[in-house]
Amino acid sequence: MQSSQMIKFSELIGNTNTISLQKKALLSGRYPHFVLNTGPMGTGKTSVSQIVAMYLTCESPDKKYIEPCGECRICKQNINILSTTGIGNYIVKKNMGSIEANKEMSDTIREIFAYKAGIGNKVFILEEIHLLSTLSQGMILEELGRLDEHCYVIACSTRPLDILPELKNRAISFSFNILNHSESLILLDRELKRNKLNKLGKEEEEFILKASKNIPRTLVNTVQFLASSQPTIEELHSFLGYISQEVFLEIFMNTKDPSYFLQSVSNLVDKYSYEFIYEQLQQFVLYWMFSIFNVGEFSETFNRCLKPAIDFKTVRRIRECIRQYPRSSVDLEMIFWDIKNVLDNRGEGSKVMNQVKIADDNRNITGTQDTMQKLTAFNPKSAKLGG
Ligand SMILES: [Zn+2]
Repeated sequence: MQSSQMIKFSELIGNTNTISLQKKALLSGRYPHFVLNTGPMGTGKTSVSQIVAMYLTCESPDKKYIEPCGECRICKQNINILSTTGIGNYIVKKNMGSIEANKEMSDTIREIFAYKAGIGNKVFILEEIHLLSTLSQGMILEELGRLDEHCYVIACSTRPLDILPELKNRAISFSFNILNHSESLILLDRELKRNKLNKLGKEEEEFILKASKNIPRTLVNTVQFLASSQPTIEELHSFLGYISQEVFLEIFMNTKDPSYFLQSVSNLVDKYSYEFIYEQLQQFVLYWMFSIFNVGEFSETFNRCLKPAIDFKTVRRIRECIRQYPRSSVDLEMIFWDIKNVLDNRGEGSKVMNQVKIADDNRNITGTQDTMQKLTAFNPKSAKLGG
């Protein structure tokens, strides 16, 4: 069972300085009795708290690598309780948000701090300590003075500003941050290997990184979800929230068939918001420009069909087509039609499009369907094809 496995310091990625400070404190044998780990959700506060708690209570910790042994009687109990109730003889882990009534809260706090040595070290992990009322935080402050020398309190918080200043001042604080880009890449690589997800392409990997916003927990969860649900490429794209290169390729490779072209564009518009398509289209064209200089990896279809057929100047012209429309009033059909014209006539079409746009503005027509019909009628090429 995955959840009952022990986490180790050596497996954590990022927050290098924070973690090495905590390890040094453990090794010195003078780990502070009241610690506050702060930082955004999913950045490893709880993981570090748990490893520290296990190290402090372990019967024979590994002093060379500074890790709990994971094998002794106490470690085994700790591993078990940390993945279940959170209440053990050596470690107690509680989320302060889950204690509701005031009565229960004060009882819990008293119970926590009533511990007197006898069975060795005991560690209390208090998650989201800022969720406690001022009264309860004051109570903890009071109890801290009576803390047994074998008792440790490790508090975690995503909102340190909501913690009583007096309480915060009593703690040794460690801050946790999201990962930087290269740390994210290392974590992604490890998780993909661990989950045997080798079929993912560069494009998909980029989007996992983007979707996880450099938060380690989100990244790990996303990869695990993908591994367990084994999505098709289509499902993967919709899960990651982006439009695949293939969708745009399909459209741009079929500009010579106006009815098919229009249908593809309208399918796209039905499925996603205008702003989203605009952003994705910009990105696709950017990839396209890069690909001409062989930077980055692209889909096989892309390399086979679009790349050899289009020169840099044309792609740049396409990019200008997109940019001339402000994002706020995106008229996607116009953009696609503009691109179609660039591809079909190597630029001649843009002039035609500008005329249509002016004509449209004058008539104050905003309806998509109307615009589309007008475009089809206006374009001399498609009119010829239609007749
Ligand atoms: Zn142990």
